[in-house]
Amino acid sequence: MFLYGNEEKQKNMEMIAKRIEVCEKCPLNLTRSNTVPGSGNVDSPIIFVGEGPGADEDALGEPFVGRAGQLLEKMLKEYAKLERKDVFITNIVKCRPPQNRVPTQEEVKSCQSYLDGQIIVIKPKIIVTLGNTPLNYFTGESKITQSRGRFFNWYGDIKIFPTFHPSYLLRNQSLTKGSPKWYGYLDMRIIGIMYRALKQGKGVEEVTKTIEEKIKSLENAGGS
Ligand code: URA
Repeated sequence: MFLYGNEEKQKNMEMIAKRIEVCEKCPLNLTRSNTVPGSGNVDSPIIFVGEGPGADEDALGEPFVGRAGQLLEKMLKEYAKLERKDVFITNIVKCRPPQNRVPTQEEVKSCQSYLDGQIIVIKPKIIVTLGNTPLNYFTGESKITQSRGRFFNWYGDIKIFPTFHPSYLLRNQSLTKGSPKWYGYLDMRIIGIMYRALKQGKGVEEVTKTIEEKIKSLENAGGS
């Protein structure tokens, strides 16, 4: 697990990871090679939450290190102008579901306290959900195409910003205006803008309001 940022927060995050390492709350513990707690910057105002580890992540104990992860990293760099180590990346479930199936409700519930704990430690302002599983977990919505690019209120002043899962973008290569990839790149640019504004100390309400207006103008202008 690679951690950056405030040392106290790192210690708390490591404690959560230790609990995950010995977790036997759901059957995923029987088939995992490694637990995948998450990694990155514990001071990030924006965190990314995916569905669950795949084969590469299970082998290495790190989130988003396979093909989807490489695309996520590239998008962060090219569109958000961020390095992977600037943000914190984790998943809804911390162990690989066999054959990369969608985690069951029981598995999601068993893992909930770990994700809650991570959010309490980091105190992010915005949670970017990658794909349908985290979208559904945080908002109750189930259609990413209808929910992306919007803000949903979560607890306190935390906002949810849903976008496409990078695996979905790997399967949808078209870059024409309005395609998933076109929107995915647009969302990443927006994430970069929000990250910098939040880091400068701007409030989340102000940032998201400005962004909602920006999204409209970028979409109208073609996103470039
Ligand atoms: N897909 C996910 O949802 N999470 C990972 O960590 C890797 C692939």
